[in-house]
Amino acid sequence: MRKPLIAANWKMYKTPAQASEFVTNFLPLVAGHDRDEIVLCPSDTSLATVIASVQGTNVGVGGQNMHFAEEGAYTGETSAQMLTTIGATCVILGHSERRQYFCETDETVNKKLHAALKYKLTPIVCIGESLAEREGGHTEDVLRRQATQALTGIAPADAEPIVIAYEPVWAIGTGKTATPEMAAEAHLIIRSEVARRLGRSVAENLRILYGGSVKPDNATALLNQPEIDGALVGGASLDPQSFARIVKY
Ligand code: PGA
Repeated sequence: MRKPLIAANWKMYKTPAQASEFVTNFLPLVAGHDRDEIVLCPSDTSLATVIASVQGTNVGVGGQNMHFAEEGAYTGETSAQMLTTIGATCVILGHSERRQYFCETDETVNKKLHAALKYKLTPIVCIGESLAEREGGHTEDVLRRQATQALTGIAPADAEPIVIAYEPVWAIGTGKTATPEMAAEAHLIIRSEVARRLGRSVAENLRILYGGSVKPDNATALLNQPEIDGALVGGASLDPQSFARIVKY
C-alpha cells in the first residue's frame, strides 16, 4: 500500500507571518488525519517559522528547491544539509518553473536527487510534458526521458524515499487539469519506466503524485485513481480551507 502524499507548493507566496497564520488555521482542519502524508513547502524565508509551528503534528515541511553542492560559493543557494538540519523532511526538485526560468535541466535534477537522498530528504521529482510536446504526440518519450535522466546512477536499494510528481506543464496554474484518465495513463508510463530502470518492486512502491490545477472540486476524481498516489498543489494550497478539503478528498 502506497500512502498518499499531499504536498503544498506555495511558490513565491506568503511572508513568515502569513505562513504562520496559514498553519494556525490549517492544523485544526486536518488534526488526526493520518490516511495521507501532508507536507507544506513554503519559501526558504518561512521554513523555520513553519517547521516550528507544525512541531509534533501530522504535518511535515519541505523546501521548494536546493543546490546539489555540499556547500560553497553559490550566492543565494540552499544546500540539502541546510534543509535537513533546519528540520525539513522533503524537497521539491526540478519543478517546471525552475526548469523554465532558472536553467534547471535533467542533469541538475539528477545531481540534486543524489544530494537530497544523501541528506535523507524525501525528494519530490517533478516531470511533465509541455503543451507542444503533448500535441506533437511526444508525451511518452518526454516522460520516459525525464524519469530516466533524473534517476541516473540511483541504486534500487537507495530509491525507496523517491517520489515523482507528474506535472503536465500546460496544467500548472492554468486552471486546465489533466483528466483523471490522462493522468493515470501518464503515471502508468512513469511507473513502467521506473520498473525498467530500478526493478518492479521499487516501481510498485513508488509514489507518483499528480500536479497541475488540483482544486477541491477535482481532487476526489484524480486521487481516487489507483495510479495516483497524491497531489502537488500550487494555487489551491494557499488557502487553509481549500488545501484541507484537498487533503480530505
Ligand atoms: P497549480 O500548481 O496547482 O497552481 O497548478 C501546481 C504546481 O506548480 O506544483
